[in-house]
Amino acid sequence: MDLRSAPSNPDIVIGEPLPIVKPDPQRLVANLRAINEIGSDPAGGVTRLAFTPQERQSHDLAAEWLRDLGFEVRVDAVGNTIGRRQGSRTGTHAIALGSHLDTVPCGGGFDGTVGVVGAVEVVRMLDTAGLGLESPLMVVIFAGEEGARFGEPCIGSKAAAGMLTEQKLRRLQDDGGVTLADAMASVGMEPHRLQTARWDPATVAAFLELHIEQARVLESGGQAVGLVDVISGSTRLKLDILGRAEHSGGTPMELRRDAMAAAAEIILGVEGLANDHRHRGTRATVGRLEVRPNNITTIPGRVNFAVDVRDVDTDRQRAAAREIVERAYWICERRGVELRVEVMADTSPAVLPVWLRDLMGKSCSDLGVGFRTLASGAGHDAAIVSRLVPAGMLLIPCQDGLSHVPEEWASVSDIVRGVEVLFHVVLKLDAFLARWG
Ligand SMILES: [Zn+2]
Repeated sequence: MDLRSAPSNPDIVIGEPLPIVKPDPQRLVANLRAINEIGSDPAGGVTRLAFTPQERQSHDLAAEWLRDLGFEVRVDAVGNTIGRRQGSRTGTHAIALGSHLDTVPCGGGFDGTVGVVGAVEVVRMLDTAGLGLESPLMVVIFAGEEGARFGEPCIGSKAAAGMLTEQKLRRLQDDGGVTLADAMASVGMEPHRLQTARWDPATVAAFLELHIEQARVLESGGQAVGLVDVISGSTRLKLDILGRAEHSGGTPMELRRDAMAAAAEIILGVEGLANDHRHRGTRATVGRLEVRPNNITTIPGRVNFAVDVRDVDTDRQRAAAREIVERAYWICERRGVELRVEVMADTSPAVLPVWLRDLMGKSCSDLGVGFRTLASGAGHDAAIVSRLVPAGMLLIPCQDGLSHVPEEWASVSDIVRGVEVLFHVVLKLDAFLARWG
């Protein structure tokens, strides 16, 4: 049956006594540390950029753990590492757990890593308790989740969902001019075989991702776990402004075509638009800007910058992006500079299925773990995977909501609690699938 239309009735699987096996805090910490030794950055934090040897090394380490746990592990054409272990029933679709191991430059050691290390811990808990699942179990480590290097996030999961073309892999470039396709090939992947990374939705019953919240909602509300109902979409625009580079002393104000002044007006407009009540819920950011020639005595001749527009509402997200572009054209025309706009990435918000969230909520209640439902402002592989198969997301608090910085931190007790909930969700889901799947 199609699980997206399964009855929303997780009560059918309650009643069984809770296994007393707990996550092992020392093992969790040791494994987090082992992953984060890879790409440990002297400048602070961790740098394991997408499609670099550091990312591959972290995948290799996790793959080794999975093989030790009896998983068959393969790496697909774009670098997703996929471990699979058979269940006791044949011919059923798998329960998949996972996240990512790549980071932003000088990022934290918890974003993504908690989900991978947590998934491996769930498997170890099953084995410690001697609990065999009926469904096959998959642990998936998606490649290139962070958009930091190529502007495009969730590359591995988008390949799995069939949302990428080879043409796009050849078009996207990092700051050094390396194309995504070449970066993949340089670490042994096969971008020309992109299509082979597509998932057959019939083989996966559901995907579960444990992740740090990357915001302060749980911390300020005092809840241990957040269950995600909707994951923000994001539209990323590249704006390139071409003015005229001239002497800063010799050029009168009225004759200037200053690309930087135009950019400044546009950027303040971006902030103003997201603060406007008509766009409440929209977040719009300019986090990157390049100025040429970037010289104190030269009027900037060219400025390019990226705008990131996020929202949990598809229409509002696209309307905001459209309005930003319209205003930018108007500003540039008035200032006599040229504007070129490129859409770097455009992902719709994802509403996650209620039945899976109910099942996760039931697990929290059974364990006496306080939880709340919330939206995720950050994008995740789970949002992409949910276009293919039902996906659920469990968030745990992170200190001060900080993420993508070296100070990113989640406490051991919060990680342990998140893993414990994930473990119980897997058991419940397995029982649910045995009945309905
Ligand atoms: Zn992440």
